[in-house]
Amino acid sequence: MSRFLREKYMDMEPYTPGEQPQMKDLVKLNTNENPYPPSPKVINAILEGNTGDLLRYPDPEAKELVEAVAEYYGVPEKCVAVGNGSDEILAFVYMAFGEKVYFPSISYGFYPVFAETFMCDFKAIPLDEGLAIRPDDYIGLDGTIILANPNAPTGMTLTPGEIEDIIKTNADHLVVIDEAYADFGTQTSVPLTQIYDNVLVVQTLSKSRSLAGMRIGIAIGSEEVIEDINKMKFSFNPYNLDRLAIKAGAAAIRDDEYFQETRAKVMETREWFSEKMRDLGFTVLPSKSNFVFCRSDKISGQEYFDELRKRAVVVRHWEKDPIRDYVRITIGRDEDMERLIEVTEEILCEKAK
Ligand SMILES: *Cc1c(COP(=O)(O)O)cnc(C)c1O
Repeated sequence: MSRFLREKYMDMEPYTPGEQPQMKDLVKLNTNENPYPPSPKVINAILEGNTGDLLRYPDPEAKELVEAVAEYYGVPEKCVAVGNGSDEILAFVYMAFGEKVYFPSISYGFYPVFAETFMCDFKAIPLDEGLAIRPDDYIGLDGTIILANPNAPTGMTLTPGEIEDIIKTNADHLVVIDEAYADFGTQTSVPLTQIYDNVLVVQTLSKSRSLAGMRIGIAIGSEEVIEDINKMKFSFNPYNLDRLAIKAGAAAIRDDEYFQETRAKVMETREWFSEKMRDLGFTVLPSKSNFVFCRSDKISGQEYFDELRKRAVVVRHWEKDPIRDYVRITIGRDEDMERLIEVTEEILCEKAK
């Protein structure tokens, strides 16, 4: 730390992203990336993009991408905003609506970090014993509510009815639904944004659209809420999406066929993999995302994580209550999951000796 840092940031704990290790023959199942490459149409859009134009600033309205998203969801363009990853959209949410913020105590690790960064008053609400969000805890609160649906790292969802109740009983406060993983089997709340003016849906192209390296997030809400999000964007970084990202993002949204195919594949792999883990004695939370959260009585979360890593299989583990017994495993290709099963059998076998 230098002696120049603002005092209020001296004790701030930054977010720790999952590692991007450089091991040989690594099976990388730790940051919920998609195992399949982006659509060939995305690659074409980038290659055909006029690179000569890179000397010009990109479109600050990112119109091509906004149009594609509006068309995909059947909402007006004025109801769509875009960000440099959904992390940036979430940052705008905290800037604009962060006077007081509520979110689950076990959820996306960035939520409390943003609260510190933007000096927001916040309250983290515990989950129930089964690691589920208790919807009743979010009825009639006095601040902005942020819920990941499905939640991370549990993969479990709230029902559409539960979400609507939370929105209805917080009519004077914004309810933000972070749908980073909704494309893997969770019903989207986007239609609710056209009925209630106090709901904002945040999505990312990093997971279901295989574009984590490109940094594209989207927000869908009422015209007024989107106007506020864009007010933050234009007060911070008007050119937040570069030319290639705008083109790639629009092409990804438009290629529905490829999207349907790859997300179906991930869900299919998730189902057989969850079953197989249960057969090995693991408790696997019912996931509607591209990862599973699981534990075993035979091995601690930390030891399982360490043993997997020794065998070049990297997953995610948090050494904190009440989730220290669990590891989060991203759904990769079938062969990645087969490899994980194989080394898990080996690890459990060695432990039993
Ligand atoms: C991955 C993730 C994000 C961030 O996505 P980016 O668009 O890559 O910034 C936001 N929320 C949750 C719950 C996530 O898991």
